[in-house]
Amino acid sequence: SASSTQFTRAQADKVAQHPCYSPGAHHRYARMHLAVAPACNVQCNYCNRKFDCANESRPGVVSELISPQEAIRKAKAVAAAIPQLSVIGIAGPGDPLANLGRTFNTLEGLRSQLPDVKLCVSTNGLMLPQSVDQLVELGVDHVTVTLNAIDARVSEQIYAWVDYDGERYYGKEGAQLLIDQQLEGISKLIERGVLVKINSVLIPGINDVHLLEVSEAVRQAGAFLHNIMPLISKPEHGTHFGLTGQREPLDYELAQIRELCGAHMPQMAHCQQCRADAVGMLGEDRSQEFNLEQLPEHA
Ligand code: SF4
Ligand code: SF4
Repeated sequence: SASSTQFTRAQADKVAQHPCYSPGAHHRYARMHLAVAPACNVQCNYCNRKFDCANESRPGVVSELISPQEAIRKAKAVAAAIPQLSVIGIAGPGDPLANLGRTFNTLEGLRSQLPDVKLCVSTNGLMLPQSVDQLVELGVDHVTVTLNAIDARVSEQIYAWVDYDGERYYGKEGAQLLIDQQLEGISKLIERGVLVKINSVLIPGINDVHLLEVSEAVRQAGAFLHNIMPLISKPEHGTHFGLTGQREPLDYELAQIRELCGAHMPQMAHCQQCRADAVGMLGEDRSQEFNLEQLPEHA
């Protein structure tokens, strides 16, 4: 059952201090996203590359892209101003693991400058198996993987292509490659004691019922939380799905799928789909207060 997830004491502490994972923590702890990762290695049909990764973020908002050096400067200023800051994440605007140099330089800097803060990364999972060792070495203790399907016939309707090892893969071939990498990466993270949250975008008529199989699979793999988010596909967002008339889920459809998947996996219902540069308590965004121009040069 959903309550069978067994945590070690260290894992329970990680959850309790993470505003996104513990409903009790989201009024007491703050989080910050650093938008250091512009590139992506897949094309989701719900993505508009001009905006933030729909892994976590609402289409239609543009985050200020910053360098790893700027990110560390900003993180130190925010940590000094917001003592409740417990988690710093890299979640876009593209895929953090499609920007290995920028992402790992940022994580290394954070680890040495702000040793007490928890680090988290959010990814589509394509480059996860080869990144797990480095993530663990840097002490990243939470990873979110967006897993929309575990069947290539479903996945190929969601991803137009996948770039891997210098080649572009389309259709079922690309979809299967992505699924294999995601599942291998998730298992490796869990073996190494990293907490794994799964994000799934609910796309009516494409992966709605299939999400039950996804939640069953990630329960077996040992993920600890499932965050089912509604597709955002209004035509003005300019996504492929928006152009083809793919509709968004209705509120009751989202509630129904969350309830069904809740039989396998604890559900996260308070995700705010934050921007890639969000700062503050969940539900608030103080990113404008920490514009780079307003920060001291050598924080
Ligand atoms: Fe866009 Fe994120 Fe999908 Fe990449 S993983 S295509 S940035 S939604
Ligand atoms: Fe937490 Fe969701 Fe915001 Fe990420 S997007 S920081 S999981 S509330």
